[in-house]
Amino acid sequence: ARAALAAAAGGPGRTADGTAVQLLANVGTLEDAERAAAQDVEGVGLFRTEVLFLDRSSAPTLQEQTEAYARVFTAFGDRKVVVRTLDAGADKPLAFVDVAAEENPALGVRGLRTARRHPELLQTQLAALAAAAKQTGTTPWVMAPMVSTPAEAAEFALTARAAGLETVGAMVEVPAAALRAHRLVAAGLDFVSLGTNDLTQYAMAADRLEGDLADLLDPWQPAVLQLVAATGSVDVPVGVCGEAARDPLLALVLVGLGVRSLSMAPAAVPAVRFALSRTSLATCRAMAEAALSADSPQEARDLAARSADPDV
Ligand code: PEP
Ligand code: MG
Repeated sequence: ARAALAAAAGGPGRTADGTAVQLLANVGTLEDAERAAAQDVEGVGLFRTEVLFLDRSSAPTLQEQTEAYARVFTAFGDRKVVVRTLDAGADKPLAFVDVAAEENPALGVRGLRTARRHPELLQTQLAALAAAAKQTGTTPWVMAPMVSTPAEAAEFALTARAAGLETVGAMVEVPAAALRAHRLVAAGLDFVSLGTNDLTQYAMAADRLEGDLADLLDPWQPAVLQLVAATGSVDVPVGVCGEAARDPLLALVLVGLGVRSLSMAPAAVPAVRFALSRTSLATCRAMAEAALSADSPQEARDLAARSADPDV
């Protein structure tokens, strides 16, 4: 009990029986990152770099980007920093990227797909990340958003490694990528990170910006959990950086499905840390199995809660 209390009070995330589950921060701006660095988090699980590109008429230069990334790497020192390359399009429009209007922007040229039309944007960003890594003597984890196929994973991994980056991954936020996560990893990835916001949108065919569809957009949807399970069995680190990670009960289910890092707004970390500290890995797995047997988000919650420690 004393160990559980200590774990709940702070420090690295651990289940009651000692399985490490990293507790990381989602950050957008540099100020965000510097604030998060002062918190009790194990690093950054999602640095949304597109924020640096918003409200501008042209992309930040190689030098501007290098300085920005170096600031974030310096702030976190030896802690892990997962950087996502530019995720433009759909709900994140950029003035200088989306030239053609699209009928269905969420299904259009967004995320990594932007590099088909603007390869130079990705090249410059990867070069800046590599330069900042070198300057600061750090090894960032770099991942691409909206990867759908092993070919896209392979191409991104090759490009990132050619730019000098060592640890390369992909977000899993498209059902095709979740179902075939093993093949994406085999194409040359060192890690994957589930983006449950988009994964839910695409699994449920429900626009993430449409408030009237909130019931469908619930990450407890058993279909979404099944896609997480398909991803959770790969043999490289699996994280979650979508909103799902901040729900303590759901975080336990995610760990039961194979997830070993959870990235969220820093304010959400203590409650997730506490829930983990009360729960063994075996209980997390039992909760996951129970949730997968449900037919609705509410049933999944109820079944998972019934398997959990009553204090969680
Ligand atoms: C996600 O899709 O879950 C995610 C983390 O990325 P974003 O919300 O920035 O699309
Ligand atoms: Mg996303």
